[in-house]
Amino acid sequence: MIARPLFAAACLMLVSLAVGSLSQSSPSHPRPLFVAGYQVLAADFHVHSFPLSWSTLSPFETVLEARRQGLDAIAMAGHNHLWVSQLGCWFSRRIGGPTVLPSEEIHAPGYHLIALGIGRAVSWRQTAASAIDQIHRQGGIAIAAHPVAQYGPGWDAQAIGRLDAAEVVHPVAFGDPLARLQLRQFFARRKLTAIGSSDFHAMGKIGQSRTYVFVTENTERGILDALRQGRTVVYDRDGEAFGDPDLIRLGAVPKFEAPPPAGFWSRVSLVAGVAGLLIAAAALREAGFGR
Ligand SMILES: [Zn+2]
Ligand SMILES: [Zn+2]
Repeated sequence: MIARPLFAAACLMLVSLAVGSLSQSSPSHPRPLFVAGYQVLAADFHVHSFPLSWSTLSPFETVLEARRQGLDAIAMAGHNHLWVSQLGCWFSRRIGGPTVLPSEEIHAPGYHLIALGIGRAVSWRQTAASAIDQIHRQGGIAIAAHPVAQYGPGWDAQAIGRLDAAEVVHPVAFGDPLARLQLRQFFARRKLTAIGSSDFHAMGKIGQSRTYVFVTENTERGILDALRQGRTVVYDRDGEAFGDPDLIRLGAVPKFEAPPPAGFWSRVSLVAGVAGLLIAAAALREAGFGR
């Protein structure tokens, strides 16, 4: 009899879904922040969406989730493609934001590079320096993505000399002191705009690490101009700030907030979901599936 265990598994998964959905809290949306003549935007310039970028959230859900997390701007950086972010831009314009920048994460063997504000995909079959030249010819911004040693052999002097910005805060370094040191050493190699990104793949929280951008207008052009001129502030988990010293001194933006621990009902949802999956797998195996 396979029907009874499968029925129990389905019930547990339904309980998991219902409890998980009801226990979600919606973060409050702060009012727009204006400081020293600038509007301050909370942005995450490294977010992935389904398909082709190892994420399970669709472009539409990604935009909605960014809005729910209080982000004003995101870059949906498809792995070696641009069209998913263009879909995100289209959708976001129809629902009134957040501002979505057309972008790509160029995945090359020796480097990962975020191309922000481009109109055509940039090939990964070239050096980092020539990819950055192509980004600039399109009026875009080049951000070194998680430039720890493991992803770093392609960062030669020519590439570094052309870069606009680098991720100095990124989850790859959370709990890894060596990776944290490598991100900071890369960032210190020359004057670069400070970026904090989540590299969201539908796990964790979109905007978990974020960049505060000081813009004269909340548009793609306003954001690219601010990044070109280095008008950002980024906080690491230990409270250390990176970015424009004058803007840091204003103390206008919140420091890094660790996600709150999972509450009781979130744990109930997790346990019910995992138990349901295990019971379903055991029942299907008993019935001879997968042999
Ligand atoms: Zn990457
Ligand atoms: Zn990525």
